[in-house]
Amino acid sequence: MNFTAELVDDLAGLYYSTFDRNGTTMYLAVTQFQATDARKSFPCFDEPAFKAKFNITLERRNNTPDFEDYITLSNMPLDHSYIAEDGFIADVFQETVVMPTYLLAFAVCDFKYLSSVTQNWTMNTYASKEEYNKTAFALEVGVDILRGFENYFEIPFVLPKLDQIAIPDFGAGAMENWGLITYRTQYMLYDPNVTTAGTHRFVAVIVAHELAHMWFGNLISPQWWDDLWLNEGFASFFEYIGVDFTRPEWNIHDAFAIENMHPAFGVDSYPTSRPIFATNVNSPNDIDRLFDTITYQKKYIKRKEYGNVRHQELWAALSEQAKEEGKHINVQEIMDTWILQQNYPVVMVTFDSTHIRTMQTRYVLGNTSEGTDSEFVFKWSIPLTFTSSQNRTYENNDIHWMYRNQTEATFEWPNTINNANDDWVLANVQQFGYYRVNYEESNWKALIKQLTTNYTLIHPSNRAQIITDLMALVSLDSVNISLALTSLDYLNQETEFVPWYAALNEIGYIRNMLLTKAIFGKFETYMQSKLEIIYGKIGFYGAQDESMNNRLLRSYIVGGACYYHIKNCTDQAVLLFDRWMENETNLIPPDVKSRVMCTGIRESRSDTWDKLFNRMASQTPSDQTIILSALGCSREHWVLERYMTYAFDDTKIRRQDARSAILAVVYNPLGRDIAWNYLQRNWNHITTVYGMSAGNINRILRGLASRLTTQFQRDELARLRDTLGSDSDYIPFFDNALQDVDLNVAYVTKHYTELETWLGASS
Ligand SMILES: [Zn+2]
Repeated sequence: MNFTAELVDDLAGLYYSTFDRNGTTMYLAVTQFQATDARKSFPCFDEPAFKAKFNITLERRNNTPDFEDYITLSNMPLDHSYIAEDGFIADVFQETVVMPTYLLAFAVCDFKYLSSVTQNWTMNTYASKEEYNKTAFALEVGVDILRGFENYFEIPFVLPKLDQIAIPDFGAGAMENWGLITYRTQYMLYDPNVTTAGTHRFVAVIVAHELAHMWFGNLISPQWWDDLWLNEGFASFFEYIGVDFTRPEWNIHDAFAIENMHPAFGVDSYPTSRPIFATNVNSPNDIDRLFDTITYQKKYIKRKEYGNVRHQELWAALSEQAKEEGKHINVQEIMDTWILQQNYPVVMVTFDSTHIRTMQTRYVLGNTSEGTDSEFVFKWSIPLTFTSSQNRTYENNDIHWMYRNQTEATFEWPNTINNANDDWVLANVQQFGYYRVNYEESNWKALIKQLTTNYTLIHPSNRAQIITDLMALVSLDSVNISLALTSLDYLNQETEFVPWYAALNEIGYIRNMLLTKAIFGKFETYMQSKLEIIYGKIGFYGAQDESMNNRLLRSYIVGGACYYHIKNCTDQAVLLFDRWMENETNLIPPDVKSRVMCTGIRESRSDTWDKLFNRMASQTPSDQTIILSALGCSREHWVLERYMTYAFDDTKIRRQDARSAILAVVYNPLGRDIAWNYLQRNWNHITTVYGMSAGNINRILRGLASRLTTQFQRDELARLRDTLGSDSDYIPFFDNALQDVDLNVAYVTKHYTELETWLGASS
């Protein structure tokens, strides 16, 4: 069958990508087939349930010097090449294993590679000849992680080779094509002098994610896309296990809850949130607690190798396995409560000296009449774990199930607990479970007292949990904000990344509510008092062998210290920025680069702004992202106004970067109204003439909404919404943004006086 299609740069199917080499535009061709774009390259049954073996031959030009260095890559190793009739070179690849179309891939490029050969397979990492040396880290961790998964699953990687390739233009972050994994360039390259701690770690995480897909998704695939979350849920869960194979000293598990679960809590708190099944949302992260041992997955993959699954079959297999091991749990009954209804539970924990009692209710914000009902009436089957001031055990805690037909449950507790002695009980140990916890006020006070007297007796993940659960319960009106705020008091002693990360996120919300309020000065003084000690300890520079968590912590602490105008921080940042502006070889330490750039622009005038803007194009993609944000930090109104016009000018800012530029202005307290006024005045131009994508409009509206706190601002937003036709694609985005602003307005109205009192008492 003959089939022809045009090669365009649309990031879908077979497409072309470009990059600059000394002023010459270089081209490569590459594929992205998931979910339904294999059909753009060749006629096929393009659905995951249809699987076949594929024989791929790619012809490439070899008749001019321009194409001499070009190679082809595909899922399988090259078998042989021959000169085709048209003078092209035909590269014939080995036949693939049985697989669905969406995992096929090929590339034509002039890239170079690093290689690592093991007994059973070869791993190569490809990038342009200028950058392929920076793939050494992805190669090293890739080999460790692939080996690690082979041992863990006791199922070898089934292909003879695995290539990883960095693509300049790539729509997703990465794609798990079987044997030829594609990455957006900045997510695969690592350069110790330039790459931030966050990106450094992210490269390992994304490599682990894609390699986990070689088993979850590739070896077994979902029957249909509504079960895609099976792929993504397992791959996300195994990210951190994979990274642990290669960098155990990073202690990456401690960050699982704050990085994966807390964002999920955020989007899953509304009546209109979508259940996981039949959506592209990741799986419930507490799925891990169902798997006491990994034999579950192993047995299951072996049975379904090269096959397709629906989630019901997975639950049946897991239940069967549990039964064999003497545990009678019905996995389907448990999991249905997590994947077929939106939101999540709050567990109220009370106790007397011998028993712990629990009660479950639904966590939901806003008007519940707007959402769909649930056949499980918003009850869940919850794996509960407890510890207390008496035993302080944080590993291998017994799981006590509270089932979906139970509103209340009672468990015997062996240690005597006595509130009069400041004893405490803590539930959801290490925050493995996807639920919030509430206690009586006396227990909250005992926990907070423990933080103040000796916080190390509570696990870092649970220190983060105490703060985030309290703040979430304030939004629900279940605890008093003055109680929640006292959980922040101990922070001036805290030295670990996980609790700080969680705390700064929560504080970020309060900051956004107070940004333009009269008490912001007091809030800033309070934040300085919390940050001063840790900033003094951690500073701008770390030792060579510093831990990953410390490096991550530095970027947040320096970020906060300069944001809240701790003078030493501002001075240091300006010094580093000025030196770099003078001469680019004066490198800024990567972990503080974004705050240094922002502070440098904040403390300078428009001539410096222009110089940085002009320098942006010659920087690496990740540094360009940092600079786009920093340019929004200016204190000059007209500069911010001009930046808004640049954002919609293709000759100034690339389309893919427009959103970042606008959000940078929105996030500057002085820029918020400038950006908002600009968007209102130019709405038609932006949406029709410039044609900004719906996804970007949505992100900008949500970013803006996070900073709007008054009824007046809400009305302005509603007015713009009402000028749109009722069939406008943007209406749902506006409705979500309005929902956010409603919650903000309610929060400020309700809590402003208490916040003022708290700040008055703290300063
Ligand atoms: Zn994935």
